[in-house]
Parts: sequence; C-alpha cells; structure tokens
Amino acid sequence: MNIENILNLANSKLKDSLVNYSDSDSEILLSKVLKENRKYILLNPKKKLKNDNIKFFNYLIDKRKKGEPIAYLTNIKEFWKYSFYIDNNVLIPRPDTEHLVEEVLKIYKKDSRLNILDIGTGSGCILLSILKERKNFYGTGIDISKKALNVAKINAKVHQLSNRIKFFYSDIDKFLLGKYDLIISNPPYIKKLCLRDLDKDIIGYEPKLALNGGIDGFSAIKKVIVKSSILLKRNGKLILEIGFDQKNKCLDILKKNKFYINKIKKDYGKNDRCIVSTKV
Ligand code: GLN
Repeated sequence: MNIENILNLANSKLKDSLVNYSDSDSEILLSKVLKENRKYILLNPKKKLKNDNIKFFNYLIDKRKKGEPIAYLTNIKEFWKYSFYIDNNVLIPRPDTEHLVEEVLKIYKKDSRLNILDIGTGSGCILLSILKERKNFYGTGIDISKKALNVAKINAKVHQLSNRIKFFYSDIDKFLLGKYDLIISNPPYIKKLCLRDLDKDIIGYEPKLALNGGIDGFSAIKKVIVKSSILLKRNGKLILEIGFDQKNKCLDILKKNKFYINKIKKDYGKNDRCIVSTKV
C-alpha cells in the first residue's frame, strides 16, 4: 500500500463519518505517523508504507472517525504565531482567544515591564504568546488542574520561557500571591445545562473543567473579577474572554467591583468576546 492509496481510503472513511476536512485531516495524520511534513506526503504519492505505519495510521483515522479532535491526535495546535503541545487535559486553543493576545499587545509597548497573572492558564497558550512578544514581561500562570499545568510547563520549556514564568496549582479563590499590572483569563463560561448541546467533538473530548461555568455560566467569571480587584495594582488591567451572551451581566459585575470598562471586542463571528477593563 502506498501513500496515495492509504490517503484515498482514509479520506472516504472520514467522509462517511461526516468529518469536515477529511482530506487535510488524513494528510496531517499521515505526516504524524511518517514524521514527515505535508509537503513530503503530497510529493511522494507512490512511496510504499511499512506495516507498522499502516496500523498506526488506521488507528488514528478510527479515532478521528469517532470524533476525536485532530489537535489531540497530533498533540499540536497553532495559536497566535506559535505551535503548542496539546493533550486532552487542556482546552484546545481557539482562534477567537487570539483577540485577547492582540488587545494586550496593542495596549503595552515593546519595552514595557509588566507582571502578568493568567487565571486558568490551561495549555499556557495566551500567557506564553504574550511573553514571546514582550521581552520584559514576567508571567504567573495558575490552574486548578495539575495535569493542565504540566502541559503549560512543557510549552514554557519548548518556547524557552521557563525563566520568565511561574506556575501554581491553585484555585483562584485561594490564590493570594503577588500584585499584578495585568490579569488575563479565559475562564470556563458555558452554562452547566448547555454543556450537553456542544458538538460531540468538544464535549466528548475536551476537559469539562475547562468549559463548565456552573449553573448560570458565571461562577468562574465572578471569582476571577472579584479576586482580580484584590490582586491588581491600582490602574492595573483585567482582560477577560466571555461567552457571546455574557456581556451585560459581566459589565455589571465589573462595575460593582470598581472596574472601568475600556473596550468590548467582538470575535471573528461578531460576538462580544473580550472585555478590557481597568481597576480604578
Ligand atoms: N487559557 C487557556 C486557553 O485560553 C485555557 C482556558 C480554559 O481552560 N478555560 O486556551
């Protein structure tokens, strides 16, 4: 069996299961198996495959058929300008979350010196992307999942940022360390009862801890805002990702906690997604 044959087979298997990007998924998974890039796959259609590789590839295609996200199968996800190690202990970084990085970089100049806290750091994608762009920023990432923190630590190492970042295993409720110029967070914000309506690729595979925002969807958001008002320096900023329908209530909670609202940023789908606020 050669590359062309096996790709055709995999492609039709995935199509039967209504996987959207069956062509590219098959190519991506074959490049993982062969440890070659996609260009190699496309330029060598007649290359014969070893039995072990065929077996491993079919195993991955079967998982993809059942709905497992491609990022968990390849252990890689691109976010901002970088590539992150990902496994099923962390949320898969979303393009919409890049708005948060963009807002931070717009506000703070290249040479500014800043202490940042990332609440619910997960893979570390937001904090690490920011630190990559700003050489004088120092980061602290906290999470309630030890396994997620291990992923974030791997990413810090891969991106050579371990010397500018610290990680703590802690609930935001119990965290009292330091004073920050900037707090960022993409907290779990889906209503508990709505979790079951999410795509099966999401709810079947991504960690519920990273998605579940409690009965009203606001339990983590509230904690983040209340605690940020204590952990931020005066005039420090809180930049928060929220659900598409959470703007008004979020603004209320922010104002009650003495935050000034600087900006509400919409995502690529034109939903309110990111709030920039200042602790006054
Ligand atoms: N900060 C990580 C991200 O944005 C994880 C967020 C989460 O798990 N809720 O991808």
